[in-house]
Amino acid sequence: MDNKDLDSYADQIIAGSQLSDDDIRSLLETESPEIIDKLHYVARRIRDHFFGNKVFMYSFVYFSTHCKNKCAFCYYRNSNDIERYRLSNEDIRQICQVIKTEDVHMVDLTMGEDPYFHNKPERLAEIVRLVKEEVGKPIMVSPGVVDDDTLELLKNNGANFLALYQETYDMELYKQLRVDQSFEGRINSRNHAKKLGYCVEDGMLTEVEPDMESTIISLRGLATSNPDMVRVMTFLPQQGTPLEGKEIRDCASELKIISILRLLYPEKLIPASLDLEGIDGMVHRLNAGANVVTSIISSNSSLEGVVNYDREHAERDRDVKSVVARLKTMGMEPAEQSEFEKLLGR
Ligand code: SF4
Repeated sequence: MDNKDLDSYADQIIAGSQLSDDDIRSLLETESPEIIDKLHYVARRIRDHFFGNKVFMYSFVYFSTHCKNKCAFCYYRNSNDIERYRLSNEDIRQICQVIKTEDVHMVDLTMGEDPYFHNKPERLAEIVRLVKEEVGKPIMVSPGVVDDDTLELLKNNGANFLALYQETYDMELYKQLRVDQSFEGRINSRNHAKKLGYCVEDGMLTEVEPDMESTIISLRGLATSNPDMVRVMTFLPQQGTPLEGKEIRDCASELKIISILRLLYPEKLIPASLDLEGIDGMVHRLNAGANVVTSIISSNSSLEGVVNYDREHAERDRDVKSVVARLKTMGMEPAEQSEFEKLLGR
């Protein structure tokens, strides 16, 4: 296929053509750099059709690393004997003073399933309200699975987006990853958030699947709640977890899956996280078809990312200015705030 053929393939997807499971299988299977480059090219063409060269950016505040759960892949699982923190409202207020000077479209408030908040949801609502008042931007909440009343409470206090990752739609794998947590309960919570008017994000992990069929189940499963944003993230073995010794290759399959997500879900938001490979990784992910930069943290912040990565390497340049400067070198730029707000209302 030359560029003309690839353009016409992108046009077919834009017009509503769907990938079959066999199409997905052959894309997941291929190791040919030439075919992978073509896949990324088509994904960029589709993204550019819907979003142009505009990128959305989310600021990231991980305000509690306490958690009652024991997800097998997560550094913050309850049995891991690590240092944890829970920010006070005053700490959060101070972070807001920095965020409100920054050119981000949304603030992502993330925590583990911390009983301090889960048992008293009004504490969580207070934080959402505080950040909304201080920063005045849309708010994404990532509180884990909370009940319907709490979702409503958070919404009434200013939350716009719910991030709640299934991580896999392969039931057997789910049981191994999200130990002792309800598969349906997670879906129901996301569905209820949609009913309440939230935008929602769902996501899958890669490099943990037993086989390619499991990946396809998750790629298809991501349609379950009709999410507004779909993410893939490479599993990274974490110290002190049951999966500590698991070997992974690199982030190549994540890049390929980002492109496949763009083909499967052409109009959705797809993140390029800074969490795993910092700003260089962001470039690769945008080149694979992503259109949102997530996990932006202020240059002077000492907060945690979602994964416990190589800080010296990945922490560098995770601030807005560095991101915008790098976007420019790629011919991309931040979208207007009004474009993002329009998306939230769609
Ligand atoms: S992934 Fe979330 S819910 Fe699971 S152990 Fe980690 S912080 Fe807790």
